[in-house]
Parts: sequence; C-alpha cells; structure tokens
Amino acid sequence: MSIAENIKTLKAELPEEVSLVAISKTKPKEDLLEAYEAGQRLFGENKIQEMAEKWEELPKDIQWHMVGHVQRNKVKYMAPFVSLIHAVDSLKLLKEIEKQAKKNDRKIQCLLQIKIAEEDTKYGIDIEEAKNILLSDAYREMSHVEIIGLMGMATLTEDQAKIRSEFSFLKRTFDEFKKEHPTFSTLSMGMSGDYKIAIECGSTMVRVGSAIFGERDYN
Ligand SMILES: *Cc1c(COP(=O)(O)O)cnc(C)c1O
Repeated sequence: MSIAENIKTLKAELPEEVSLVAISKTKPKEDLLEAYEAGQRLFGENKIQEMAEKWEELPKDIQWHMVGHVQRNKVKYMAPFVSLIHAVDSLKLLKEIEKQAKKNDRKIQCLLQIKIAEEDTKYGIDIEEAKNILLSDAYREMSHVEIIGLMGMATLTEDQAKIRSEFSFLKRTFDEFKKEHPTFSTLSMGMSGDYKIAIECGSTMVRVGSAIFGERDYN
C-alpha cells in the first residue's frame, strides 16, 4: 500500500479524539510530502538536526513533534518551530526549553516521558520524579513551557497482556495527574505494533512510523 493509503486506513481506524503523529525519522522529504498531500500535518522525528532540516524544506503548516531523547545543547535548534516535545525527562532539560522558548518569544508544549517498560534501555522517569518536576518552584515560575501530559513506550514484546498492563498503568497515572494539573490533555502512547492496544487503554495521541512509511533502513 502507498503512504497515502496507509494514512487513510489509519485515520479511519482511529477514534476522532486520538491524534496521529506520523513518525518520519530517516525518511526522505518526498515521503513526508506524500503524507502531507494525503492531509497529514503532525510529523514526529527523533533527531533534532534532521527535524530542523525537514522543517526548513517542507510546508510551514506542518506541526513538528520531537519524540526522541533530547540533548540540552541541541534544544536551541528546534526552539523556533517545534510544536510538542514528547520526551522531557528532567527539570534541567525543562529549564533549557524555557530559556530557548523565551528567546524565541514562544510557548513550547511538552510531555513528561514516564518509564513504563521493563527494559533498562528505555528512557523516562518514574512517577515521583514527574510529580517533583510538576510541583517544583522552578516549573511554576516558567511561562514559556507548558507540560500538557505524559508519554510512554511499552516493552517490545509479543505479550499483549504485558503491553496492556503497562499502558493501563500510564493511563491511570495520567488521570491522577490530570486532577491536579488542568493543563493535562495529552497521553502519547502507541506505535505501529501496539497502537490498537494503546487506544483501548485511553491513548489520545499515537506515534506511528513504519505502518505509514514502511520499514526504516538505517544504513
Ligand atoms: C520510531 C519511534 C516511533 C515509531 O515507531 P514505529 O514502530 O515505526 O511506529 C514512535 N515513538 C518513538 C519515540 C520512536 O522513536
């Protein structure tokens, strides 16, 4: 199936309140344009430099999401245009985003990445650390960043029950936080292999790459 057909199929499948971020990392801009022409406007990348290059060349009404781990010294390259940063995992990083957003006279929306998977390799923080960030004086004083929800990645496994329990845990955490933080609106969970489970568990934003663009070639 073509990229356009994949997008159409996915959109038909997703409930109206769930947004689709097309994860276009490693893909050439022609592929992104094909998705764009099929109506896709949210794109996600995991490398800041690659995202900045694509932003320069592609239509300006695209909303760019940074879904990968963020190094603080690179925040400045995306601050002029990034629309949502999914994987904030420290107050230090948040402070840098605040600083760069202010320089650009913008407000940048962020999600806190919660570690829900078993693997040691997955980034993310635990609930206590997330609470500490949200309740910190430093965050309260920031006026150029807004934490609007949580993001999580489930364990890479065939075990559907395990994936479901990890996503359900994140959803419960999200609902808890939402009571205290009215800015919370977005729960980013679900990728090509597990977005159906994520939606059943209450996801409001799925990040789908290979099911739209095909397998990635990392050579
Ligand atoms: C690559 C990536 C995705 C998309 O993965 P697919 O399995 O290709 O859908 C989603 N989220 C993050 C954080 C990613 O790095």
